[in-house]
Amino acid sequence: MPHPETGYLAENYASVLSRIGEAARRSNRSPSEITLVAVTKTVPPDIINALLSLGARDIGENKAQELLAKYAAVEAEEFRPNWHFIGHLQRNKVRQIVDKAAMIHSLDSLPLAVEIDLRAAAINKVMDVLIEVNVAAEPNKYGVRPEDAPDFAEKLGEMGHLRLRGLMCVAPDVEFPEENRLYFQKMREILVDIRKKLVHNEFINCLSMGMTGDYAVAIEEGATVVRIGTGIFGKRKIQTAPEN
Ligand SMILES: *Cc1c(COP(=O)(O)O)cnc(C)c1O
Repeated sequence: MPHPETGYLAENYASVLSRIGEAARRSNRSPSEITLVAVTKTVPPDIINALLSLGARDIGENKAQELLAKYAAVEAEEFRPNWHFIGHLQRNKVRQIVDKAAMIHSLDSLPLAVEIDLRAAAINKVMDVLIEVNVAAEPNKYGVRPEDAPDFAEKLGEMGHLRLRGLMCVAPDVEFPEENRLYFQKMREILVDIRKKLVHNEFINCLSMGMTGDYAVAIEEGATVVRIGTGIFGKRKIQTAPEN
């Protein structure tokens, strides 16, 4: 089946990959160390499949309902992506996504961790998670406080079906990406602190940070995962649906 509108997608995707490559080289890293998560919220399955046919393998959704609605249509096609859950997750939605997600980026409370551990145990899975940090202490954002992240990380160690892989943040919405550099540096410092504090730290090596507006700066400061929607798919329509 021919995919729709592949032209603009191919162009945007190639240009994002090339900017990722440039930023990686500027910081003496290999582009292969950086995972591009294409954020597909509001993007229909046929467009997601078109992107997968271009070689993308990691996609991110921020709502459980939306992930579920697209999952079957995307999985039915040739390319099986890794699904990243990147939005605020309610405990009563964990069961629905735990078997589908390769990684949950948005772990932000102990009760949520307990629920993920329980639901993952029930299906014999070890769930990779990132702690979401509210790095700029913004009142309207989810995430643990930067100063609480190491203690929180330590508590996760007791959960056998949850594997801490690192940290995630949604940096402030700024006019100039340089304004977020200090927050990306702070994220890296917190990751280093956590690695020092925990004995079993061999898997704790992910920093999910950087979006369309600021991913080059994030990579320069050590991002290993960038989450990009607008830069690939274009501007989203304003969403009025309530959060799930
Ligand atoms: C929407 C979203 C993104 C992508 O944002 P863009 O600015 O469109 O690249 C990244 N992370 C999260 C958590 C999001 O909700």
